[in-house]
Amino acid sequence: MSTDCVHVAVRVRPFVDSERSRGCVQILKKVSSEPQITITGDSNSKSQDTYTFNNVFMPEISQHIVYDECVKPILPKLFDGYNVTILAYGQTGSGKTYTMGTVFDGDWENTRVGIIPRALRDIFKTVRTMEDSSTISITCSFMELYREVLYDLLTDRSRDQSVCEIREDGSKGIIINGLCEIPANDEDKATNCLMTGGSKRTVGATAMNDASSRSHAIFVVNVKAVRLDGTGSTTAKFTLVDLAGSERSKKTKATGTRFKEGVKINQGLLALGNVISALGGGTASSNGYISYRDSKLTRLLQDSLGGNSVTLMVACVSPADYNIEETLSTLRYADRAK
Ligand code: ADP
Ligand code: MG
Repeated sequence: MSTDCVHVAVRVRPFVDSERSRGCVQILKKVSSEPQITITGDSNSKSQDTYTFNNVFMPEISQHIVYDECVKPILPKLFDGYNVTILAYGQTGSGKTYTMGTVFDGDWENTRVGIIPRALRDIFKTVRTMEDSSTISITCSFMELYREVLYDLLTDRSRDQSVCEIREDGSKGIIINGLCEIPANDEDKATNCLMTGGSKRTVGATAMNDASSRSHAIFVVNVKAVRLDGTGSTTAKFTLVDLAGSERSKKTKATGTRFKEGVKINQGLLALGNVISALGGGTASSNGYISYRDSKLTRLLQDSLGGNSVTLMVACVSPADYNIEETLSTLRYADRAK
């Protein structure tokens, strides 16, 4: 697998009010004209640390530019039969949901619209240009992975009845038993799936700010194109993952159940880091074996990472000195993923 199939972008969000009122200072600086970022104030490092990624987006960079630079270029791959996967990684409050656009209110005019709605709009734009030569069918699924249990967010069944099992099928890849796949023939139908599913996500507030930060949200767009001249067809899966917060449980003041959640989430993120690092040619797999089995998250993403797929990880970070430990940990995680 070529390293070109894993792209890593870092996005620094603007200060939020709580950081401003604490008098936080900015510890991240972009190297001019390079996709490099330096962090100052790391007590374990004598000077500045510099990290290199495919893209570095500083706080002033808009949703539109982030999308155009790192998402738009990989979308055509979907129509060539490649799976495309976008993962947002980072501590709670770092901008994952904002960047992904997991929460969408239907207002297309808002400049804050994130990656998922923008991508859906462009996918259907492409579909309309292909209609003369192909029949294209698109379906959407939306899942939540919470404490190693996978829930279907688009079913009408109750929460208890919406649990899905992951199965591996030799020829078809990963199959999720009973998962709803909602047909969508335009961007409004598809974003309706996003909004409907989003309203069903687990709510469980911690000392940190985001109620849905304890689970992974996984939105999937299946694209099937059958050429009208009979020369064949392609299928591809577009997977968008708003990962659970990567913070260690210490800062969330978690105890009991909350603490267990933290531990399970970190196993998934750890396994994901190992898989992506191995795919990118890193050292995680010394024998060429990639251990998808280590968590439900990696089992679920097994056919969306590696092989016939393109992966973009957007590592989201706070600019503030207050969050330096988590920011360092995110930069290191992202650095391993390259
Ligand atoms: P996460 O999903 O990682 O917990 P959020 O996406 O909810 O974090 O972001 C935390 C807060 O910061 C939100 O109020 C969000 O609107 C704001 N925010 C995040 N990134 C940006 C950005 N690039 N520009 C403006 N506001 C942002
Ligand atoms: Mg979030």
